[in-house]
Amino acid sequence: MMIVMKPTATDEQVAAVIARIESCGARAHPSRGEEVTIIGAIGDREHVARLGLEGHEGVEKVVPILKPFKLSSAELKPGERTVVDVDGRRIGGEHFSLIAGPCTVESRDQTLTAAHMVAAGGASLFRGGAYKPRSSPYSFQGLGQEGLRLLAEAKAQTGLPIVTELLDARDLEPVIEVADVIQVGARNMQNYALLAEIGRAGKPVLLKRGLSATLEELLMAAEYVLKEGNPDVLLCERGIRTFETAYRFTLDLTAIPVLKELSHLPVIVDPSHAAGRRALVEPLSLAAAAAGADGIIVEVHPEPDEAICDGPQQLRADGFAAYAEKVERAAAIAGKVLSNSPA
Ligand code: PEP
Ligand code: MN
Repeated sequence: MMIVMKPTATDEQVAAVIARIESCGARAHPSRGEEVTIIGAIGDREHVARLGLEGHEGVEKVVPILKPFKLSSAELKPGERTVVDVDGRRIGGEHFSLIAGPCTVESRDQTLTAAHMVAAGGASLFRGGAYKPRSSPYSFQGLGQEGLRLLAEAKAQTGLPIVTELLDARDLEPVIEVADVIQVGARNMQNYALLAEIGRAGKPVLLKRGLSATLEELLMAAEYVLKEGNPDVLLCERGIRTFETAYRFTLDLTAIPVLKELSHLPVIVDPSHAAGRRALVEPLSLAAAAAGADGIIVEVHPEPDEAICDGPQQLRADGFAAYAEKVERAAAIAGKVLSNSPA
């Protein structure tokens, strides 16, 4: 249920409604807009309905949230967009974020070179996997803790916040020590226990769409994080499985405006994993930025031909600045400004 407060409602009245919601075992998720405060009451619908919140002081109306996803639903924040702040870099609303870095952390030299080059080229955040979800158990699985240490060094040297994947809840502690944004990979989108754990960790989350997941399933996955009280979820379209085999995955650009209709959460696009090859990454990035994506996450490597994984799709780091400039211009078409320094 959604409790819409009157524009004149006081903080005390909002607090009283929250306490009342919590008194029946439901959770209250207030969302303070410019005009009104809306409180999402998530719990047993019957119990919440029986509270008689309509008659409470400061309450305008009580309405059901019609969609199965509740906290991520646009209904809860009418006309408003969630803006996630990562160390002063903003993502969402009119703020565009360029997340760049190698597929995986391979060595100190490769990581630091990549970080310096994308920082100089205008990146907002640095990406790199220390734990890698590989299709084959015989492939390189990531440097693990040593990889996290290198990411921390890259941040210390460049100031770029870190986006890195958490594969297993048992690695949560070391990962949150280094990550400014925790990435949930496509293959883990429906790992609900992991999502809830991350929700409780209180770090922003980049949630990738599963290879065959519908947008509703993606939003239901986001709900697992939001429900734990973590409001900072970035939805990521990274290509889905279709009958087409001419490229790695089909980048679903329609997901950008549709997710924005359905949800207030920022939408990030990963052109690298969709494309599977370098030549496609720039056109897909430009299309995504012009279509209103709130950010791009792109793989960049100093020497892609030597990369341990995903070499063919990684942009060459020496071309990153020119690429970033074009993406920035495409984002401007959608009315967005690159947020690449602390606000
Ligand atoms: C990645 O970003 O490195 C990755 C493995 O992506 P995905 O989960 O989308 O395949
Ligand atoms: Mn990759």
